Amino acid sequence: MERTFIALKPDTLQRGLVGDIINRFEKKGFQLLGLKLVQPPRELVEKHYEEHLGRPFYEGLVNYMTSGPIVASVWQGKNIISSSRSLLGATDPSKAAPGTIRGDLATQVGRNLVHASDSPVNAEREISLWFAAKEIQNWSRSLEPWINEEN
Ligand code: GDP
Ligand code: MG
Repeated sequence: MERTFIALKPDTLQRGLVGDIINRFEKKGFQLLGLKLVQPPRELVEKHYEEHLGRPFYEGLVNYMTSGPIVASVWQGKNIISSSRSLLGATDPSKAAPGTIRGDLATQVGRNLVHASDSPVNAEREISLWFAAKEIQNWSRSLEPWINEEN
């Protein structure tokens, strides 16, 4: 089982899409381990996106990510890191396939609604950046055998 960090960016909240997007992850069969609304300080967003420091879009990205509250979440599932990025679709929503979150709900790379970790190392780094250990619940799902054949 893998864990990943999913953030619903400020445009998701402004557009009233929080429920829709969380619903897609739940319906897929992923398990929610942590969830909170955060107004992130600039330093947190800078750490989160440190790999993009120096890129032309960096300043705009940090402004976007600090422009309002974010829904920060931790999810668990089989292959969830690559699978959740498939659910999101391409980074640029104008190139994202129909049926994906970005493909269905967004039009522009600078307003692409959702973040998902891109590797196991980044997932654990981002989870510990945004969450304290006690904010993550390791609960067992009674319908687990109906989602995953084996654990
Ligand atoms: P992701 O992992 O699919 O979110 O994409 P990246 O890690 O490459 O980029 C991080 C975020 O920066 C993206 O989700 C976009 O919000 C933003 N971003 C990336 N490339 C561009 C760009 O060319 N222009 C703008 N305005 N924003 C970008
Ligand atoms: Mg990324």
